[in-house]
Amino acid sequence: MSLPALKRRLAYLAEEAGRSGTRIFAVGGCVRDWLLGRDTVDIDLAVEGDPGPLARTALRLWGGGQEAHERFGTACLKLEDGLRLDFARTRAESYERPAALPKVRPAGIEDDLRRRDFTVNAMARPLTPMGLGELLDPFGGKADLEARRLRALHPRSFEDDPTRLFRAARYAARFGLAPDKETRSLIASAAERGLAGLLSRERVRQELLRTLEEEEASPAMALLKEWGLLGAFHPDFLWLPSTDMDSDPLLRLGVCALVMGARGEEFIRSLKLERALARDILLVLTMVQERKSPCKPLPALTRELLETHLKGLPETALEPLMLGGEDLKRLGLKPGREFSRLLGEAAEAQWRGEFETKIQALVWVKDALKKQSGRG
Ligand code: ATP
Repeated sequence: MSLPALKRRLAYLAEEAGRSGTRIFAVGGCVRDWLLGRDTVDIDLAVEGDPGPLARTALRLWGGGQEAHERFGTACLKLEDGLRLDFARTRAESYERPAALPKVRPAGIEDDLRRRDFTVNAMARPLTPMGLGELLDPFGGKADLEARRLRALHPRSFEDDPTRLFRAARYAARFGLAPDKETRSLIASAAERGLAGLLSRERVRQELLRTLEEEEASPAMALLKEWGLLGAFHPDFLWLPSTDMDSDPLLRLGVCALVMGARGEEFIRSLKLERALARDILLVLTMVQERKSPCKPLPALTRELLETHLKGLPETALEPLMLGGEDLKRLGLKPGREFSRLLGEAAEAQWRGEFETKIQALVWVKDALKKQSGRG
């Protein structure tokens, strides 16, 4: 949504906040993107107080659904026109040990900006009845953005939260920012100390997926490689720039697993993905190894991955096997080991394109039986 249109919307929220004496700010990524002249549909709103009433007002005014309601007063709204409003209470954070989840407590906007990752993400603009008020930029984020500089807010930043290493690669790549000298040395020291290894696999997975969601993941992956951090995804993780040819992040993930060969399965299992997703990708790995047509129709993701990865496959290789147990029974065979072996061979033959129709499949099986009885 364009900035002027959005400002008109946000003015309503400012009025509502004003009535209850709370301040509300647009904060983080959207403020950065506006400075870069980019439109954004993801607006993070920080409220000095309970964001609940404001979120309800937004829903009433603009319709849509509430995506999540988490702890500590956050609400995420997806409005009917695609705009996402993320409401959160302004807070301060403290970390008890490296990579632990932070302890949070309510605080003002200044503390809320102080807990953020990079100066370019630590800016806010108050919502006012006119739309947006003046930039709050306590760490010089605007100047850094203009100088194309990525700067962590404090020396313990990556130790507190090593996911920021991956975030650094994404922002540097996406916006063409270079880490300043201090941040570069913090990244190097965090990589050397293996801090990313302290993160849970769930958090690593999230960073991997978010990197794969970039329009092009290669520039961020190249930085992670340069910084010695690709191994956090898996010790054998390998990034081929051609993986970006698919724009779907899940297809990209599948390709990553495929290029890892025998280690692909371990990689996928280690990520603790949603079950159906892991199953679809693991099926690709099995099929590439076994080279047999499947018994059942393939899930869309599996099929698409196989089609892109294995160029020149016969057209019907990925179709369900054209012969079934019933066909063999009609030819007088009884279920048993021989029966299963024949079906397995048929699946391999279909994969190689030796038959492409049901009739051809029946001819193939009769030939196979003839050859067998000839041998016997
Ligand atoms: P993107 O365009 O990649 O979504 P974003 O800046 O909107 O970028 P989010 O992950 O949505 O990124 O986070 C919103 C804001 O919250 C960030 O701009 C940053 O200020 C803050 N933030 C998010 N994650 C962290 C973190 N791990 N450490 C510190 N601050 C963070």
